[in-house]
Amino acid sequence: PTLSADDQRLLARRQSALGPSYRLFYDEPLHPVRGEGVWLFDADGRRYLDAYNNVPVVGHANAAVNAALIAQSQLLNTHTRYLHDNVVQLAERLRALFPVELDTSVFTCTGSEANDLALRVAQEFTGRRGLIITRHAYHGVTMALAQCSPSLCPPADHVEVIDPPAFQGVDAQAAAAAFDQRVDEAASALEARGTPVSALLLDTVFASDGVHINAAPILQAAAQAVRRRGGLFIADEVQGGFCRTGRWWAFGRESVVPDMVTMGKPMGNGHPIAALVLKTPLMEVFGKRCRYFNTFGGNTVSAAVAMAVLDELERIDAPAHVRRVGCHLQQALQSLAAQHSAITQIRGEGLYWGVQLESGSLASAVVNHLRQAGVLISTSGPLGDTLKIRPPLPFETEHADLLAGALDEALRARA
Ligand code: PMP
Repeated sequence: PTLSADDQRLLARRQSALGPSYRLFYDEPLHPVRGEGVWLFDADGRRYLDAYNNVPVVGHANAAVNAALIAQSQLLNTHTRYLHDNVVQLAERLRALFPVELDTSVFTCTGSEANDLALRVAQEFTGRRGLIITRHAYHGVTMALAQCSPSLCPPADHVEVIDPPAFQGVDAQAAAAAFDQRVDEAASALEARGTPVSALLLDTVFASDGVHINAAPILQAAAQAVRRRGGLFIADEVQGGFCRTGRWWAFGRESVVPDMVTMGKPMGNGHPIAALVLKTPLMEVFGKRCRYFNTFGGNTVSAAVAMAVLDELERIDAPAHVRRVGCHLQQALQSLAAQHSAITQIRGEGLYWGVQLESGSLASAVVNHLRQAGVLISTSGPLGDTLKIRPPLPFETEHADLLAGALDEALRARA
């Protein structure tokens, strides 16, 4: 690492003030000072292609989103206990993006809060607390979610863990049947422990399980399986939502209607807004015994920002754009796989790709090599052996070529 003297001082101050729980990416930490579209710039004006950050979904420093934020901030920013158009309009626009049954929105500030509320609703509705999740899932930071985020914390007793579905080289029907069986066995295990299942909670792109997408028939089977056992199906779209896969929602709204959907990260392009969208009868049952008020969730400014993000996604016709550029990226990655035996599998859809390599140490070396070459990605998966590629959606085919060229070079240098 060749950090400047200034950055070395900042690093020391950071370690002293923030302590050990704040981690940095890369052997040589990156210090961006400005972002624009799919690019980040450091203090020396060097630019980095951002092929990693999904939160700035419509691009870093998006002018239309910033304008909406400033305009609403100058007018009014208050909570949801007054009548105001913004929060209502946002809820109506979200509703239009879902199957009709998913017609109620509750706004929060983070994906964690949305998931936490979904678990509370599931418990109230079913009168049970058992949970089924995948082996290396991540669902958030609250105590309830830490207990069902085995990628960071051991799962609690009322949580049963199953392997994520396998898609590669497996017939979709067979994969769906296998996953159905896993859900069923997990429900039996929970019942045997005296905590029957309240919900199956799945990250619809299985990001921290190593990126497994194109799940529609499998999620359909999973939803049927958990409902058969008296539980609800919660689709965590915090990673997969807002056109990332080339569909508005990764769960595939043609084939399965989740009982609840949570979303966050890209929803405000970096501004903290998230939501739970659910079927009205669930919220009615929840409302009999509990109330929910989130001070900042759905405030006037956040709602304006989220609507500007929806406008931008519509303006660029994000689903079609993502399918087109995603297809190009997929071909580029597949041609790399044909040349590099170190690539063992490519998984993904749209603009979310996992490129599995022979080992975690190689993946880490490649990520650091790319950072030095001016391209930003990271790793994922239980062994950290999968390159995680997940750029802001204004990513174009020329950016995909740049990424693929740099990856080719990195693999040649490191393999
Ligand atoms: N669910 C998934 C699938 C996530 O990836 C994350 C964040 N990494 C969360 C939930 C939690 O969201 P937040 O950090 O906004 O609380």
